[in-house]
Amino acid sequence: MNPNVSPRRRSRQVRIGRFSIGGDAPVLVQSMTNTDTADAEATASQVAQLWQAGSELVRITVNSPEAAAQVARIRDRLDAMGCEVPLVGDFHFNGHKLLSAFPDCARALAKYRINPGNVGRGDKHDEQFSTVVETACRYGKAVRIGVNWGSLDQEVLARLMDENARGQRPVAAESVMREALIVSALESARRAEEIGLSGDAIVLSCKVSGVQDLIAVYRDLARRCDYPLHLGLTEAGMGSKGIVASSAAIAVLLQEGIGDTIRVSLTPEPGGDRTREVIVAQEILQTMGLRSFTPMVIACPGCGRTTSTYFQELAAQIQAYLRQQMPAWAKQYPGVEEMHVAVMGCVVNGPGESRQANVGISLPGSGESPVAPVYVDGQKTVTLKGQRIAAEFQQLVEDYVAKRYGQGGVGRRSEAKPLKSASGKIAV
Ligand code: SF4
Repeated sequence: MNPNVSPRRRSRQVRIGRFSIGGDAPVLVQSMTNTDTADAEATASQVAQLWQAGSELVRITVNSPEAAAQVARIRDRLDAMGCEVPLVGDFHFNGHKLLSAFPDCARALAKYRINPGNVGRGDKHDEQFSTVVETACRYGKAVRIGVNWGSLDQEVLARLMDENARGQRPVAAESVMREALIVSALESARRAEEIGLSGDAIVLSCKVSGVQDLIAVYRDLARRCDYPLHLGLTEAGMGSKGIVASSAAIAVLLQEGIGDTIRVSLTPEPGGDRTREVIVAQEILQTMGLRSFTPMVIACPGCGRTTSTYFQELAAQIQAYLRQQMPAWAKQYPGVEEMHVAVMGCVVNGPGESRQANVGISLPGSGESPVAPVYVDGQKTVTLKGQRIAAEFQQLVEDYVAKRYGQGGVGRRSEAKPLKSASGKIAV
């Protein structure tokens, strides 16, 4: 654990397949498919891609009989591929019917996500909620009670609004809405336990789309229960806006020890890669020093001292190469995910940053002689020049990995260098 981060909030631990959520388990990365679940082939393929990218739980929509009928097949396809990622079923409105009518679906899922605001109104709410929870009890599954700002339980909200209006010191409607999110989650969890679900099978989330709202809601929720919490900013948006908003909200909470699973809900660009949200979630955890997934590339932003895009291309190439190698390296070279590789644009910060990394290269800036010194474990070992700098540097990194992290290498997990603080990684 990074000493600068608050200790993790104490919570119960929920078992999901071979993973645990909460307690002393690491913060897990979760994602969700955007395929039609009725298309088993497309869904299994996207789940496998998300898993390959590093998603440790994958949620799939289960919204129709056609979708529910395919869930067990999707599970079988994944098992046949050796993809053991736990599947979470996302149910709204008709989950009680689908789980009852498709027992294979109920069995194949590791966890059910239900939204108390979308379970039905009045008496039907209680009955339908009970059906889902009883199914979870019957098959030994966990349940995430996932409250969402956009589909808040209107009965809870109306009740709290009335109480607020009658109170001596009414608070702003926004505060009542935040309270309604938390009350909806906590009352639903209590009801689930009354029905018979173990408290060790419940995960809570209260997603909103505003950064400050999310932080305020989760701080309060974390104080008021010991269930594991799933974090995520809902409807975060596209591109950099979605990444920045999610990172800002999730990072503040993680820094305070709040959060047991995270999802970065990015709207993909048309034709964009769904795995982007997994990589961003991993990068949040890794840049905060909470977990390591893939070797970190430290690169300066470049400035007027760089005369070409060569160093940017080299940084991107090395980063892609390291990520590509990780599925094999993770098994072959334990601890390699904690390695740092520096790619720097000139002598101002280049040699200094390169010496701090496991392997670093300082490319020539404008007016500098066209050579690129390479540093390994803080020592200058070779100077590259000519047209093959990129290929030679990549080979040096590969050799370093084999030597340091291979059988008997000094960098094996227990002896690996500790992560540097995030603030020390980017030269500006
Ligand atoms: S190391 Fe700093 S000064 Fe040199 S190119 Fe990069 S940003 Fe510019």
